[in-house]
Amino acid sequence: MWKTLKEIILNAFWPRSCVNCGKAGQCLCEDCFAMIDIFRDISYEKFLYLDGLHAATAYNDKMVKAIIHLCKYSRIKELSRTLADLIITHFKLLDNQTLISNRLSFGKQNLGGLIVCGVPMHRRKLKNRGFNQSEEIAKHFSEEFELAFIPDLLIKTKKTLPQTELAKEERIKNVSGVFALNPPFKEFVGNKEVLLIDDVFTTGSTMEECAKVLKQNHSRRVWGAVVARG
Ligand SMILES: [Zn+2]
Repeated sequence: MWKTLKEIILNAFWPRSCVNCGKAGQCLCEDCFAMIDIFRDISYEKFLYLDGLHAATAYNDKMVKAIIHLCKYSRIKELSRTLADLIITHFKLLDNQTLISNRLSFGKQNLGGLIVCGVPMHRRKLKNRGFNQSEEIAKHFSEEFELAFIPDLLIKTKKTLPQTELAKEERIKNVSGVFALNPPFKEFVGNKEVLLIDDVFTTGSTMEECAKVLKQNHSRRVWGAVVARG
């Protein structure tokens, strides 16, 4: 894939300085990371298909919003590691408060069958951006907790309008029927538990649509984990 000169320069010099304070060393330095308010609990609201949602922090946190934007729109792939660290820290802060955090804190023996995947991106968008930030975050997350990561478990079969430009009802319609289970995994997901990872959760229509596909294919439970909640 051809890269623009700006991208080549950015990639060559990144991650040499903190995106927030400019200090040399990391994409986001430890001091700035520590300033982010990471949630120590989860909301117990009811969803149609999701069995629960873990959000690491709030989207109205200016630093978080800026990092997500830099990762996605300035295509700074390395920042997906920082975004994953926010979700990882959230789960570690939860310790054993929820079903998943409890199992993560007690290690591999309690995790049988838990699969991690990212919300898929349409192949044309993927070609344009060069990476899917949700999949990158899911990969880092699964490595941290030694979980099974399946990058192409779900596929996006149709291109959609950006959800950010739409009202709630339009968002539901926009993503309706656009995701599918990747055929080789049809039998595999039956009776399994899946942790779906995305960067931002606003109305939840994207994640619910993904969870619907998994439930239709007989996944036992589907949870969501996101960096930021809008
Ligand atoms: Zn900093």
